[in-house]
Amino acid sequence: MFMQLNDRGLLQTQGFINGQWCAAASGKTFAVINPATGEQLAQVADMGADETAQAIKVAEQAQIEWRARSAKERCAILERWYDLMMAAQEDLAILMTAEQGKPLAESRGEVGYGASFLKWFAEEGKRVYGDIIPQTPDRRGLVIKQPIGVVAAITPWNFPNAMITRKVAPALAVGCSVVLKPAAETPLSALAIAELGKRAGLPEGVFNVITGTDAPAIGNTMTSSPIVRKLTFTGSTPVGKLLMKQCADTVKRTSMELGGNAPVIVFDDADLDRAVDGAIAAKYRNSGQTCICSNRMLVQAGIYDAFVAKFAEKVKHFNVGNGLLDGTTHGPLITVKAVNEVHAKVMDAVAGGAKVVIGGQPGDQGEHFYQPTVLTDVHSGMRVFREEIFGPVAPVFKFESEEQAIAMANDTEFGLASYLYSENMGRIFRVSEALEYGMVGVNETAISSEVIPFGGVKESGQGREGSKYGLDDYLETKYICLGGM
Ligand code: ADP
Repeated sequence: MFMQLNDRGLLQTQGFINGQWCAAASGKTFAVINPATGEQLAQVADMGADETAQAIKVAEQAQIEWRARSAKERCAILERWYDLMMAAQEDLAILMTAEQGKPLAESRGEVGYGASFLKWFAEEGKRVYGDIIPQTPDRRGLVIKQPIGVVAAITPWNFPNAMITRKVAPALAVGCSVVLKPAAETPLSALAIAELGKRAGLPEGVFNVITGTDAPAIGNTMTSSPIVRKLTFTGSTPVGKLLMKQCADTVKRTSMELGGNAPVIVFDDADLDRAVDGAIAAKYRNSGQTCICSNRMLVQAGIYDAFVAKFAEKVKHFNVGNGLLDGTTHGPLITVKAVNEVHAKVMDAVAGGAKVVIGGQPGDQGEHFYQPTVLTDVHSGMRVFREEIFGPVAPVFKFESEEQAIAMANDTEFGLASYLYSENMGRIFRVSEALEYGMVGVNETAISSEVIPFGGVKESGQGREGSKYGLDDYLETKYICLGGM
């Protein structure tokens, strides 16, 4: 399978603790599967609580020396890591597509996106400034920012590279150390990143990777440890809530990037072609498995029929299949369970009166596939309105007025990404400001990059990743009072 790799050293199958590749203490391993073919790709170390505790101790020790280095020195290592990642872009993309399923072009894009966080924070990490606050004539207030300490990171399978770098890069840049638990579905990308970090010159113990299938055991060890000062998590809202509760006992800082229920609001005055293209890209990227995928198309009555016709026509031309093969535009879902969950939501909508314009069934390319689907005659009582679909299903809702669109968009406990299409500047401002979301894309759905603050409000999470604000998540603010001046 991996004969295509230029650098077979990137294929690692053990955990990474204190700069060493380690087997699980139990000797156990677990299988990593290609979701497009069912083929077993590798057996990876199945670590648990003991290895996690060991990695936390090592990270505590390593942080002492790491935080004492100059930002310039730390950032030079991140810069080298970026260079190595870009040089290995093709190999990393092959590993990613093999274990995650997204088409190779998307994987290449993600590797570039993931690497960009290393470069951005290598630059931004040198700009951790403080303040001097005037007080009374005989005293001054000094404000400095310091690294929080040992950071635990838990990441999902949908972006096996970028979800790691956008946590690890700012943490390391400011002088924290990290223990990472990647998703068990996609450990190979995480381990390849670690291998490149090692080659870039990361000191031993500063970045550790615990691979394993017992997520609750690993997570519990992280959240109950008084050494771990911060947990950063990307994943589902239920698991995020559980981890926040677990962190309460030791009052850890947390960053949570959780589920979304993104609306794409298309007004009558929108550029229809642009809106259709944007909505398609946002809906079907990674076969609908991203937290900023548009979940609900909200389209104004005047252009509803035209929108549905153009949208479905584009979907008809998708080429669903194995992401490693040329010409594939959309890959499989991550698990059979995911296929079943998506289908249950479609069935719920159909039972409630929804019309299937296209798709609506599991795909015939293999048991991990689901047909790209478009639904009309949908309403807010259906699961496709209330829940994150996480699959290639586009329900198109109809609205009459701007007020109704805003009310529908905000009628959810989530608040991550939202999108709107309009050519009316007043409306753009009014609606953008009224949307209860952390991010709003106006006439644009490709909103993510390393230079912007990514994150949500309400039950979509807290904290921001990327941009100058992304450093704050890994810094404590300390006030020093200088008296007797
Ligand atoms: P998804 O639906 O995307 O798989 P999850 O929230 O289940 O979302 O998974 C995201 C990450 O959280 C994965 O690395 C997973 O292993 C981890 N995870 C799941 N359950 C727990 C838990 N109880 N404690 C710690 N981590 C968990």
